[in-house]
Amino acid sequence: MLIVKKFGGTSVANKERIFNVARRCIEDYKKGNDVVIVLSAMGKYTDELITMAKDINDKPPKREMDMLFTIGEQMSVALMSMAMDSLGVPAVSLNAFQVAMHTTSAHGSARLKKIDAARIRRELDNRRIVVVTGFQGIDKYNDYTTLGRGGSDTTAVALAAALHADACEIYTDVDGVYTADPRKVPNARKLKEITYDEMLDLATLGAGVLHNRSVEMAKKYGVPLVVRSSLNNSEGTVVKEEVTVERMLISGVALDTDAVRIAVIGLKDSPGVAFKLFDTLAKKNINVDMILQSIGRAGTKDISFTVDKNDLDDAMGVLEANQARIVYSELHAEKNIAKLSIVGAGMMSNPGVAAKMFESLYNEGVNINMIATSEIRVTVLINEKDGVRAMNAVHDAFNLAD
Ligand code: ASP
Ligand code: MG
Repeated sequence: MLIVKKFGGTSVANKERIFNVARRCIEDYKKGNDVVIVLSAMGKYTDELITMAKDINDKPPKREMDMLFTIGEQMSVALMSMAMDSLGVPAVSLNAFQVAMHTTSAHGSARLKKIDAARIRRELDNRRIVVVTGFQGIDKYNDYTTLGRGGSDTTAVALAAALHADACEIYTDVDGVYTADPRKVPNARKLKEITYDEMLDLATLGAGVLHNRSVEMAKKYGVPLVVRSSLNNSEGTVVKEEVTVERMLISGVALDTDAVRIAVIGLKDSPGVAFKLFDTLAKKNINVDMILQSIGRAGTKDISFTVDKNDLDDAMGVLEANQARIVYSELHAEKNIAKLSIVGAGMMSNPGVAAKMFESLYNEGVNINMIATSEIRVTVLINEKDGVRAMNAVHDAFNLAD
């Protein structure tokens, strides 16, 4: 078997944990498997690098940030190979350049385009464990890029796809995917299985277990994913196309507090206004999520929408600069909001799921500001201060607890 195993920052945070991971991988290797390991930077090292950078320049060039970031993962893979060597097992560390992991040039949020499998294959054929840097890539100018925070998951899935791996195991500090973040919802339950689509929504909506692009990629290439703990041997959660074990109405509840709402007041109530507004944002590469348009009155209307808080300054800036072209009277930003979502493939065939969510929020006295739905999810925008309470109420309403 060819197994790709990815370990996050906490799993390699110190010497003891590095050896713990090394031993776990060596076990698989000694059974005769080909083993490829993908690592993140140790502990909170990536955050530390950001702090260091901002101390020098509060708006560091993105290319230079990527250059800086790459050392974090590079440190992990070199130390891991050394640990394996000291345990008498041949290993080789490779960075994005040495593998040749080609990405787009979007520094800080690059997308993988192509991975050369040849070097890795050669090393595996020589019976070495291959330890690869997560998160990083190279673009067509041979500059380093990164895939966005948490991007090592995506590196692992992409490698699994490129190498036609038999398994892709994502090891993290939680032991699987839960019905809700157990730190916020104490009675959350671990799922045995979840579909790619549900996982994708949960990952995008703030579940935090997997990088959303890794799920997208796993679905696209049919990579069988398992999310497990690096600290214990419990079974973990399988992410796959269709779930057979437990069919539930709702698979999870997610709370995202990284969104901010922008309201554009007094737009003209005429064709093309929404286009102008959102095209202006799109040209700045700003992702817009929930959108609400008011009913027109006296020839004007308002449009509010949410963006990631990291994009707030850019969004406000570009809208202010284009006020004369878009034509509106006022702009407001609201930071104290949260997006609460329920996700579940079971929703497709069961009416009344949204109503049940709204009822539980009503019982808690939580006001809803915006609503968005898709086939398998319902998202509401609420006050940030109500977030965790609302999340627990909804989780209880759907009987997701243990
Ligand atoms: N080290 C990177 C980060 O902290 C990538 C990762 O952990 O997946 O975001
Ligand atoms: Mg992660």
